[in-house]
Amino acid sequence: MKTSAIGTNTKCPICGTPFNCFTAGKPKTYCSDLCREFNKYYNAVEDRLLKINFYDNKARKSLKSDLWALSNKIVIKKDKK
Ligand SMILES: [Zn+2]
Repeated sequence: MKTSAIGTNTKCPICGTPFNCFTAGKPKTYCSDLCREFNKYYNAVEDRLLKINFYDNKARKSLKSDLWALSNKIVIKKDKK
């Protein structure tokens, strides 16, 4: 889904936090295990969501409403900016 450029001042593609992606092993794409795991689950949800064959428009709209409600719970925690 999301990608970030490799460099010394990379921004996490999930939360936007700047971080140094150069480590002893493989370059990091995400700032944390939380963001890395979120991306994994997001991709899994997207893959399955797009395969659902909704019975009717009511069911489709209900799930879209739930996803919208979930997106509205996304906030910036006080310790960031
Ligand atoms: Zn992050």
